[in-house]
Amino acid sequence: MKGILNFTNEQLISQFNCLKLAKFRSQQVIDWIYSKGVTSFLQMTSFNGQMQGLLSNNYYIYRPQIATISKSTDGSIKFLLKLDDGLTIETVFIPEGHRNTICVSTQVGCAVGCKFCNTGYNGFKRNLKAEEIIGQVLAIKDYVNSWNDKTKRISNVVFMGMGEPLYNWDNVNIALQNLKLGGEIQGLSSKRITLSTSGIIPVLEKIIPTLECNLAISLHAPNAITRSSIMPINDLYNIENLLPVCRIYNKLHPNKIITFEYLLLKGVNDDRVMAKQLIKLLHGIKCKVNLIQFNSWEGDSYVGCDEYTMQNFRKILVSSGINATIRHSKGQDIMAACGQLQSSN
Ligand code: SAH
Ligand code: SF4
Repeated sequence: MKGILNFTNEQLISQFNCLKLAKFRSQQVIDWIYSKGVTSFLQMTSFNGQMQGLLSNNYYIYRPQIATISKSTDGSIKFLLKLDDGLTIETVFIPEGHRNTICVSTQVGCAVGCKFCNTGYNGFKRNLKAEEIIGQVLAIKDYVNSWNDKTKRISNVVFMGMGEPLYNWDNVNIALQNLKLGGEIQGLSSKRITLSTSGIIPVLEKIIPTLECNLAISLHAPNAITRSSIMPINDLYNIENLLPVCRIYNKLHPNKIITFEYLLLKGVNDDRVMAKQLIKLLHGIKCKVNLIQFNSWEGDSYVGCDEYTMQNFRKILVSSGINATIRHSKGQDIMAACGQLQSSN
């Protein structure tokens, strides 16, 4: 039995070719799975029994199991999803005006070990399969569609949940491609998908020429010493080598901007000197800076900045011509905000 969500459109065509099914059949199956959201081949009522049987004997359509649902007072909803091996991951639904964003996980845990991040603190268990990544989106869509409220259609997907997407690139790439399936009704354009990474340079270099979705880089510091003190990955993939890759991205994608995520930590990276260093570092890069409020978790060792310091930091950036915004996280009360996600086992 093969998980059909693990195949891209092209792979499915060649799969079906081996089963002696015509090419147009793959498009029909994709419509059933990604537009109509069916979870069994028997629900594909446009097929006869023989075809349904052939598909059921060869494939299954994966869904993670929703174990618990936590609702925040701000409208965001955190789902604890149980995988087939019993491990759990978290996925968050975030409604914001006309936008409804799903924040997906790419790994169970994370090996990068950023010191401010709860996911990193809890260590790494395993990579998610492509079907477990795309399955998060489909499971949340099932849930949201059951409300029968057209204003709650999923409009954006961000790869900002648990895990480092570039350490699981092959599976993330399949999920990225499959997010676009399902036509105008359910498929998402690359413009509405954002991938966030701590900056795994060799993988970034490999993928940026063909990367269609938006790119966010977790920078969090304007110099190597400060960055290494909060993100040990900087010892391996240094900020001094990361920024040139961002410049290459700009050249290859002249119509896009990079988002730099910058978590403001009290006494670590939040003063005027750091803001000035950041301005110098980003000089000439087409970008936007997202200043993030620290979300605390049990066992953390940092303190977030007050609103005044955040606004001040932003003003310094803005006065030098940098587009900077402050992101107040949603879902803090249910531990669903950035960096607060963890699996329960
Ligand atoms: N691993 C990827 C994507 C997931 S983390 C990455 O690091 O980019 C999504 C974002 O949340 C990252 O920018 C990350 O640095 C940030 N983050 C982690 N811990 C946080 C915390 N405690 N408070 C606020 N943001 C946090
Ligand atoms: Fe991993 Fe991202 Fe957390 Fe760092 S911030 S530990 S890369 S999930």
